[in-house]
Amino acid sequence: MAAAAPKLELRPLGNTGLKLSSVGFGASPLGRVFGPVSEEEAIAAVSQALRLGINFFDTSPYYGSTLSEKMLGKALKASGVSRNEYIVSTKCGRYKEGFDFSAERVTKSIDESLERLQLDYVDILHCHDIEFVSLDQIVNETIPALLKLKEAGKTRFIGITGLPLGIFPYVLDRVPPGAIDVILSYCHYSINDTTLEDLLPYLKSKGVGVISASPLAMGLLTESGPPEWHPASPELKAACEAAAAHCKEKGKNISKLAMQYALSNKDIATILVGMNSVKQVEENVSAAIEFATVGEDNEILSEVEEILKPVKNQTWPSGIQQF
Ligand code: NAD
Repeated sequence: MAAAAPKLELRPLGNTGLKLSSVGFGASPLGRVFGPVSEEEAIAAVSQALRLGINFFDTSPYYGSTLSEKMLGKALKASGVSRNEYIVSTKCGRYKEGFDFSAERVTKSIDESLERLQLDYVDILHCHDIEFVSLDQIVNETIPALLKLKEAGKTRFIGITGLPLGIFPYVLDRVPPGAIDVILSYCHYSINDTTLEDLLPYLKSKGVGVISASPLAMGLLTESGPPEWHPASPELKAACEAAAAHCKEKGKNISKLAMQYALSNKDIATILVGMNSVKQVEENVSAAIEFATVGEDNEILSEVEEILKPVKNQTWPSGIQQF
């Protein structure tokens, strides 16, 4: 009898009881933020993701001004997979029109999201990019409103997202224990930036699940490079471009290397990678399976780390407060 094909690993998400595929499907590209994507491509990418064992999908009303939620909703429905077999997170508080984390707006927002997603509930509702507003509003107004939505069954769990890592302990230390189930950090656990690592013991001690997004550093660690709006400095962009060119010269793919690197820390439940095609889904899943079965390519990894050394942990400003 032939051996069963290796499956994508499932990892626990903090105290939620959820088990997420180690690779999650970031749906911001379905909002066309990284370039054009047709409805057919979106449906095919989501169906293939489900077939290959991806069970976690992340979106936001902000991505493509609600287009990502609509495309994801259509694609999940078209897949025919039953609702209890996949985990969906969306967000509130950040919109095309700007930020609004008032209790009134976030309460309305979830109903709008559910309609666009064609769902009765989401698994996780995140406060989207909280560094752009007063964190005390998040603590005193937004989280209490989200707890009511949780009670009403519109979301199972509550999360917070943003770029500066200091926002997470600031909020977690000020809300009742267990009020926030999950954090979503981005661009802080990939080959060029590993600063999330320092926060992991604290998050573990609180039982908070960790989602790490953008393992490809929002396109920096890809052969085709980042989109024009990417906030990295010219120095960081140039170093990543040099690293990608070096990999190509050696017959290797920087995105595969970056995916495998991001998967290496098991205290991170899932790495959320933005995908917009069947090809990307297949490449990213096979990178994860190869990592689990064969391990990393340490030789090319140390060469890339050397190229990125001058820009290691370099980030960019985000939001209204300094951390
Ligand atoms: P990413 O690092 O995942 O990079 C995405 C880019 O890489 C896209 O252009 C995509 O088409 C491309 N790509 C994907 N697989 C590839 C492959 N195998 N080869 C070459 N290119 C490939 O960045 P992201 O999409 O910004 O982040 C992932 C997801 O995480 C988002 O879609 C979103 O769901 C979530 N996220 C959330 C926040 C937040 O809440 N503040 C911030 C960033 C990301």
